[in-house]
Amino acid sequence: MCNHGAQRLYFLSLFGVSLLAELMGNADYAKYPFLSESTSMAISRMRGLNLGALDGTEVLGHNAEEVFSIVRVRLNDALGNGDSPDLADISHEISLASFIFALIILRAANDQRLTSRFALAEARRSERYMGYFLAQSRRSQAVPIIEHTCGINLTDYYGEGFLVDISDYLKNAIVSQPSWKLVNRWVIAGKVFVKDNEILHIFRESAAKSINQTVQKMPEPVLKGELANILSEIMVYKPKVVVKPIEGGVPPCVQVQLDRMKKGENIPHAARFLIASFFINRGYDIQSVINLFTTSPDFSEKITRYQVEQIAGKKENGPKYMVPSCSKLASEGLCFKTEECDSIKNPVQFTGKRQKERSSS
Ligand code: SF4
Repeated sequence: MCNHGAQRLYFLSLFGVSLLAELMGNADYAKYPFLSESTSMAISRMRGLNLGALDGTEVLGHNAEEVFSIVRVRLNDALGNGDSPDLADISHEISLASFIFALIILRAANDQRLTSRFALAEARRSERYMGYFLAQSRRSQAVPIIEHTCGINLTDYYGEGFLVDISDYLKNAIVSQPSWKLVNRWVIAGKVFVKDNEILHIFRESAAKSINQTVQKMPEPVLKGELANILSEIMVYKPKVVVKPIEGGVPPCVQVQLDRMKKGENIPHAARFLIASFFINRGYDIQSVINLFTTSPDFSEKITRYQVEQIAGKKENGPKYMVPSCSKLASEGLCFKTEECDSIKNPVQFTGKRQKERSSS
């Protein structure tokens, strides 16, 4: 067992030296462009560029058109397909510059759902690279990047996974999934054992959050020329959701999750199941249920259709799934009971009765 990342971070921080800046090369900056070290490096090298007069100029020693073509690929793949390209065969500088320009364009678009979809796609790209690091025994390189991204300390456990402080684990665990509940985990001397694939999940979520926050903190730019053209092109990806009214209204547990998706949040599987099963059991057709998920950052029409059809019992004569009970939702942290819920046992029984009584009195 070792805790090399945390130790080096401690000693280097005494001298005001960023461990990551010491460890990272140009290739790593391009693989993990959301890290503050990467963006600082790119921005310092791009300083002096006039965003309003980039057409025909050079960016980081490359023709601006070449950089813009990668910005287009990056945004279209992320917003259209929900995945970002590896960009392994292009210069690291162009890759990093295209990431920064994509963030600038997203800030100008000022749409949280677009930003969240891009952030998740980029986080998945970095997760792939991190997966190679872990699988190829480059764990000592991986650890400080994961620690820095997730704000946690890791202890490598014989190359099979990591030990994480309980408090860090609880901040990052997916509480709605039984396998993440602390009672189902292996705890050793106050630390929780977490498998590689679970660490990668935490890494992905943290990376996406970091990208979202970076865009939110940027001043809103006024774009001209080719950057403005790309901005208008990506507007086709803005999700348009029409939620048909439902008699009796929507229970709080379902409304909370719909609101989270509208804000571009990536909600857990159990919450998606709740939404799909609720609307199917209240008479929505398959397409209307699929449309509810278009604001989800990882939306894929094909995957969503498959899952919704399965829940509706339309796949291979499978059963139609019931809405989970209120007690099950409460145990998963998905109940947001209000007095409108009265004493119902299942969200499908929600009628907004009390609300109706109040409005008619
Ligand atoms: S009591 Fe039931 S319907 Fe109401 S918020 Fe909780 S789970 Fe949903």
